[in-house]
Amino acid sequence: MHLTQTLHQAVQQGPDRPMTVFGDRVRTVAEVAERVPRFAGALKELGVGASDRVGILALNSDRYHEYLLAVPWANAVLNPVNIRWSPAEIAYSLTESDTRVLLVDDAFAAMVPKLGDIATVIHIGDAPTPDGMLGYEDLIAEAGPIEDARRGGDDLLGVYYTGGTTGTPKGVMLSHRNLLTSALGSLATGRFLTPRGKLLHAAPMFHLADGAAWAAGQLVGSTHVIVPMFTPAGVLGAISGERVTDTLLVPTMIQLLVDHPDVERHDLTSMKNVVYGASPISEAVLERARKTFPGAGFVQAYGMTELSPVATLLSAEDHDDPALRRAAGRAAPHAEVRVVDPEDVEVPRGTVGEIVCRGDHVMLGYWNRPDETASALRGGWMHTGDGGYMDERGYVFVVDRIKDMIVSGGENVYSAEVENALAKHPAVAACAVIGVPDERWGERVHAVVVLREGRAATGDELRDFCREAIAGYKVPRTLEFTDALPMSGAGKILKRELRKRHWTDGDRGVH
Ligand code: ATP
Ligand code: MG
Repeated sequence: MHLTQTLHQAVQQGPDRPMTVFGDRVRTVAEVAERVPRFAGALKELGVGASDRVGILALNSDRYHEYLLAVPWANAVLNPVNIRWSPAEIAYSLTESDTRVLLVDDAFAAMVPKLGDIATVIHIGDAPTPDGMLGYEDLIAEAGPIEDARRGGDDLLGVYYTGGTTGTPKGVMLSHRNLLTSALGSLATGRFLTPRGKLLHAAPMFHLADGAAWAAGQLVGSTHVIVPMFTPAGVLGAISGERVTDTLLVPTMIQLLVDHPDVERHDLTSMKNVVYGASPISEAVLERARKTFPGAGFVQAYGMTELSPVATLLSAEDHDDPALRRAAGRAAPHAEVRVVDPEDVEVPRGTVGEIVCRGDHVMLGYWNRPDETASALRGGWMHTGDGGYMDERGYVFVVDRIKDMIVSGGENVYSAEVENALAKHPAVAACAVIGVPDERWGERVHAVVVLREGRAATGDELRDFCREAIAGYKVPRTLEFTDALPMSGAGKILKRELRKRHWTDGDRGVH
């Protein structure tokens, strides 16, 4: 199966349906199906051959959607660039992936001179095309359309970079089969996306979380409602204005939406499915979110770029069971999930170990990193680096990244549990819990806290509050207050940045 198949089917089944909505610009299936083969033809004329990487550095747009179809149409390879990276990091990834053709929009055109030697830059913005770049609409107008160059499901679809939460981002090679397996498996659970519904792209389209939702939307014939970037006001306006039925959000976005002063003024009843994942969500935020979207089922996905990205899903029905509030769900239909010890032996249910996963959605490998590929995929299982356990019914609970686990006085402390306790305090807007060096305990539990505007709380007050919910050794021994936490492009807290200040060697090693 090939991603471009979704476009052929859309044409067969309803050429006049709207396929993309971007501000005032609406394009039907027929229009997109006219433009994609032309842009693919332009790429071919520019010398892009099978397996060549074509990058994109842009905010979300309807042209991003066309890129996601046109590159595989030409049987070239997607390379969606993380827009939150610095120019130096982008230059590094473009060089590493040997990407010589890059699409940029108006937001990033000025960055191009800092990105090193790129042979061809295509401008997909609405402003006049800058000197030295090719205009996207000109290319489409002039190029001859080509036939779909599809070969098979094992073709390399894209090089997707990991979030860079724990270190330098790695390029993950995914095939068509990988991504479509994950999307089909997610849809097979029943309540995931509304067939022929309106799918809002609020999360950045470069991130595979949105990429997989996009692919699933293609499979069920969604109209893609696209906003350039996440802003709470813009997203609330798009949902109520377009009567959006489905969306994918990361927990930090959900928090910003439910806390937004205007949230009550919007009619959000059209929303049927909210898929969320990529990092843990606090129970308090989830509870508020369920009230904010009264008609929606919430589905949690747990996974990683290397798993295209879904491994487990917590269904809408599961969300009604209080015992599952902290669960990440059960293995998705396409995924085999186990929890193992450091020798790769499966541990008993309820015991914490490393989560590993096997299936047709597991990446082909890391780009140019054979050693890391071999180590991550040893024994035929993808080693997630996430600590967790599985209960008797097969529900997986992610407790922490193994790198983030704190060992204090010989006891394991999972930062997620402590963060969850802290986040329930009404004055806490956000928090992160890390291990810092301690002469007596080896490591001690340390919390970094952002207070809600206009609210006050002392460290002792917060510690007393935690003591009500969690064992004494898990309660942060020390606390610091800050205005904002360092975040990755996907809205994940960069704990290595927080730890840097406390560990003389930059960060403590890995346990
Ligand atoms: P890098 O691998 O470069 O350090 P990253 O791991 O953040 O970055 P991604 O592949 O985007 O890059 O994220 C996958 C990770 O996100 C998982 O390994 C897990 O730690 C976390 N994660 C994803 N979904 C969930 C979830 N539902 N609950 C808890 N954690 C999650
Ligand atoms: Mg990772």
